[in-house]
Amino acid sequence: MKIRAKKSLGQNFLIDKNIIKKIINVGNILSNSSVLEIGAGTGNLTEYILKKKPKKIFVIEKDENLVIKIKQRFKEKINIINKDVLKVEENTICSDKLIVFGNLPYNISTQILSKWIVNDCQNIWYEKYIFMFQKEVADRILAKKDTKNYGRLSILTNWKLDVKKMFNINSSCFLPKPNIQSTLLMFTPKKSFLKLKNSKNLEIITRTFFNQRRKKIKKPLNQLFKNSNKITKKLKLDVNLRPQNLAPEIYYEIAKEYEKLRN
Ligand code: SAH
Repeated sequence: MKIRAKKSLGQNFLIDKNIIKKIINVGNILSNSSVLEIGAGTGNLTEYILKKKPKKIFVIEKDENLVIKIKQRFKEKINIINKDVLKVEENTICSDKLIVFGNLPYNISTQILSKWIVNDCQNIWYEKYIFMFQKEVADRILAKKDTKNYGRLSILTNWKLDVKKMFNINSSCFLPKPNIQSTLLMFTPKKSFLKLKNSKNLEIITRTFFNQRRKKIKKPLNQLFKNSNKITKKLKLDVNLRPQNLAPEIYYEIAKEYEKLRN
């Protein structure tokens, strides 16, 4: 069966075997590992995951035509979930902690990353995520405070995850060739993080601050808190700073205070 890449589903298949091997090696798959691949496509990464002989492998693929193709290619060696990844309840896939690979459309990568971070479920269902992003988005995820790329994405990600840049991937490694450069990131769960009752509060906080990223933080603080002086004192904030000057941990503290007031 001939495969026509669907642009709407971000189908850019990896064809460079060296890069595929390099990506799979990041996973450090052992014989007792369970692996989840999202957006398996024609199975180019799947094939190299199988070579590592993991205990179990699950793949999520939305496109029915591709599901037919990978069923033929791998038979019963893999468990296929023919769904939109955004609609899958990730913690029901497998009782083992999963090593998750994803070369997905880049807007979906960002959405699942946020979805999985804000998911308030307590039990951690993954060992690590190894995801590809458009280079600019990866730069925003990795950004440190006091830089122009720092903002909601890095603060949200750093709340529950440690992030590591693995390497950039040239567009010539894909077919069809995309117009952008890609970066592979690895995410592992943080051992501890400030617990919030509702992670939406962190999103509200970062949105309020970074929608006006050039303003001094006095303004968003006044918008969020009736008695913002009290918060300013308690968290020892300098109200003349701008949103990009506050460390991620300060935002988690602010979210906690915001949450307390809402009870
Ligand atoms: N991993 C393969 C394919 C990458 S292309 C490779 O590297 O060669 C991205 C794949 O994600 C496509 O197969 C596309 O159909 C699938 N996909 C796109 N949106 C999806 C979604 N919401 N849920 C699950 N799969 C999706």
